[in-house]
Amino acid sequence: METTTKTAPPDLLAPWLRHKASLFRQTPCTSNRASQLGADCERELVYWRTRWSEALEPSLELRIIFQEGEKHEREVLQELQRAGVQVLEQQCSLEWRDLEITGHVDATVVSEGESIPVDVKSMSAHIWDAVFRDGTRVYAWSEVSEAFGRKPWLRKYLGQVTLYALLRGSERAILLCLNKGTGALAQVNVELDYEYAESLLRRAERINAHVRAGTLPERIPFDEEVCPRCPFYALCLPEHVGREPIAFLEDAEVERLLEERALHEEGARVFTKADDRLKAWARARPEERLTVGRWLLEKRKLSRGVRVDVQALEERAPAAASA
Ligand code: SF4
Repeated sequence: METTTKTAPPDLLAPWLRHKASLFRQTPCTSNRASQLGADCERELVYWRTRWSEALEPSLELRIIFQEGEKHEREVLQELQRAGVQVLEQQCSLEWRDLEITGHVDATVVSEGESIPVDVKSMSAHIWDAVFRDGTRVYAWSEVSEAFGRKPWLRKYLGQVTLYALLRGSERAILLCLNKGTGALAQVNVELDYEYAESLLRRAERINAHVRAGTLPERIPFDEEVCPRCPFYALCLPEHVGREPIAFLEDAEVERLLEERALHEEGARVFTKADDRLKAWARARPEERLTVGRWLLEKRKLSRGVRVDVQALEERAPAAASA
């Protein structure tokens, strides 16, 4: 019987990747972007204004992650509208001309006559879980500020929404944070902190002065989380680049484990301290077995010392009803 050889199905990925790559374009940076003004390093922000064309382009993998995030963020706003929330002014441009600050607020919502800027942020599941310990609910900024300080990109969000609130003449802003893994949403209410807002405006002034004078601010002390990921790393610290000892890897599972480890680090320290004190106390007692409250402590002699095991006592079974 004659056999016919089939050609392989078309490669759908190559054109998709080409399309994804084509969506990225480094555009001239002629203003201080509200989304960046809260960044860790002022020198980087001056580089963005003066040497933007020399910024290291993000990898295609990272660009795809950004694009995916933007897609999800648009969907969140559509869902809010379908849910009956009055979402106004999507992707509205903001500008403070004198200070050369610009921004694009995702949306605004109106509450009691006040127009409140809303910014949607998508996050990987492990970051979201680490920040929003109670899951989906409304959080005050003070409840999550410490967690938002753990990553360089998370640290920028407060500055961004602070400037949006200031530019919109609002006393509040909302961060809506989407868990990309589960679709869960958390809301963070940010009250405008005028002192912090003022510090951002002064920062914009300093950057503008550097741009005009052709000068640069001092470098921040070398930070392994910030500098090697900075798009101007090679420009700013060329001597570091050649001898970079750190390999930057992308591994979601390992990253999840590291986040989990960080999450429980304090708890583990508290456990070890209590465990050490407890066992030292039990070793000093003459009894072999003793109970305290609902706990049973048992000592066993080993060749290298005394081991103490701690166990929760079983709840007593209720007495059987008499016949
Ligand atoms: S490499 Fe470090 S010091 Fe230099 S601009 Fe970037 S973040 Fe700032």
